[in-house]
Amino acid sequence: MDLKLSKLVSLPSKSSFNTGLSPCKPVTLTRLLGSPRESLGTDCQPVTHRELKKRIVTKDVGPFKVTGLDVAVNSLQRVLQAAKAGDPEVYDQVKSAGMLCVRLVRGSRSKPSNHSWGTAIDLHFGSQVDGRQDGLCQVGLLRLYRFFHAEGWYWGAGFSKEDSMHFELADETVTRLLAG
Ligand SMILES: [Zn+2]
Repeated sequence: MDLKLSKLVSLPSKSSFNTGLSPCKPVTLTRLLGSPRESLGTDCQPVTHRELKKRIVTKDVGPFKVTGLDVAVNSLQRVLQAAKAGDPEVYDQVKSAGMLCVRLVRGSRSKPSNHSWGTAIDLHFGSQVDGRQDGLCQVGLLRLYRFFHAEGWYWGAGFSKEDSMHFELADETVTRLLAG
């Protein structure tokens, strides 16, 4: 039943998606929210920054519960509500592999992941997640993309190290939501 949405297909060309949006730079998040904690490792660790901690919420966003930054969780809820109306099959079957996780980017020794501020989420269909850098993505993610794009989320399929299960609030959107 969920075979079709979990099926891996080739990614479209990078110029055809993420139009007008940029990946969110850690420096933007640090400037607007501070550093989630002093030192980062490869595993998830708790947020220790006091002001940021107050903005981390856990909420049922429809198909699942998430923990993340207040404005990101609310935006995610709007994305999923739009998906529910526009592509209910995708809405019914999408699963979360996690939002808030204070850690380094996989494979980096210094770059914080945007999951550290709870402004990014990893999603999948079926029982497996799609690995990075294979140039492929799950059909369900391809169908979900337009709803994220409409709310100003950047799709990790556009990263130089392609990560198609990852969506994050774009730099422009973070700036609008937090500095606006
Ligand atoms: Zn991710």
